[in-house]
Amino acid sequence: MRLDALRRNGLRVTEGQPLGPWTTLGVGGRARVFVEPASPAELAIVLAEMGDEPLLVVGRGSNLLVADAGWDGVALRLGAGFKWQRRSGAEVGAGGGTSMPALAAWLATEGLAGLEFAAGIPATVGGSVRMNAGAHGGQTADTLVSVTVASPADPLGVECDPGDLAFGYRQSALPPRSVVTAARWALHDDDPAAIRARLDELRAWRRATQPLRQRNCGSVFTNPPGDSAGRLIEAAGLKGRAVGGASVSEKHANFVVVTPGETTAADVVALIHLVRDEVAARGGPLLEPEVRMVGFA
Ligand SMILES: Cc1cc2nc3c(=O)[nH]c(=O)nc-3n(C[C@H](O)[C@H](O)[C@H](O)COP(=O)(O)OP(=O)(O)OC[C@H]3O[C@@H](n4cnc5c(N)ncnc54)[C@H](O)[C@@H]3O)c2cc1C
Repeated sequence: MRLDALRRNGLRVTEGQPLGPWTTLGVGGRARVFVEPASPAELAIVLAEMGDEPLLVVGRGSNLLVADAGWDGVALRLGAGFKWQRRSGAEVGAGGGTSMPALAAWLATEGLAGLEFAAGIPATVGGSVRMNAGAHGGQTADTLVSVTVASPADPLGVECDPGDLAFGYRQSALPPRSVVTAARWALHDDDPAAIRARLDELRAWRRATQPLRQRNCGSVFTNPPGDSAGRLIEAAGLKGRAVGGASVSEKHANFVVVTPGETTAADVVALIHLVRDEVAARGGPLLEPEVRMVGFA
């Protein structure tokens, strides 16, 4: 990748940028190249310059575990020009870098219902689409009507039909080097006070059940069919089990919490393996990680 070409076009490019601070876990190494395009035009320049470089799109970093060795490629965060939201009747569009909780709060003031589940998920629109984030019986894909995706093959972005993205439980079929630059949902009218009351209830539930005062990456494992990963981990007696500065949360067994400055990504991975092995050793299913591990060999 010709970094001088990016810089000549006014893009801010950093070499060796630590990625931990851009994630909610706060661990992991550096990105060889880190770039934050401020607009679709800047993003198009980056993508056109990508060549065969590996690309990691970083949203809010709330589902990312970056290896201690870092990311040997381009890490990209969507800048200011991707943080917007707009309504047209009952349809709502938002930029790929927009915060989902902020969007949910704004929709309450607009009297539009359908994305309340996102109130407590610390995601961006792009990360939420990629992961098909969901909770409380709702998920991102349910009311999606279009997703705009840019890639090295289509640097300016194309509008995709959600039906082509094969959304499933915490997954989508977005190709690896694609960037969600915007999404649009069809919502429905409701009383703003009723929507706000639902948001308050969901936020209170999270405060009561999740270790929100400690660094974490949400659910570490997906729920196996018909069961809950948290229940299985708790039943295996693993609450509080630690490796280095990483431990299984005492509040919610499917959360790993870390002590800032005292934890490596290797600690977190070792704990994930330990939990997986111990649950399986007790006759449970082989738990599948939900957290995206990047930069591991
Ligand atoms: C306290 C807490 C609670 C959580 N609760 C839930 C929950 O209830 N339900 C749930 O589903 N998840 C939950 N999560 C996990 C996480 O918030 C979701 O997976 C979320 O969708 C990740 O969004 P992000 O913007 O942080 O993406 P990141 O974590 O930055 O990235 C996740 C994946 O999406 C890709 N990505 C990010 N942005 C883009 C983009 N613009 N274009 C293309 N790909 C992109 C990344 O490359 C990566 O593969 C929780 C996390 C935390 C910390």
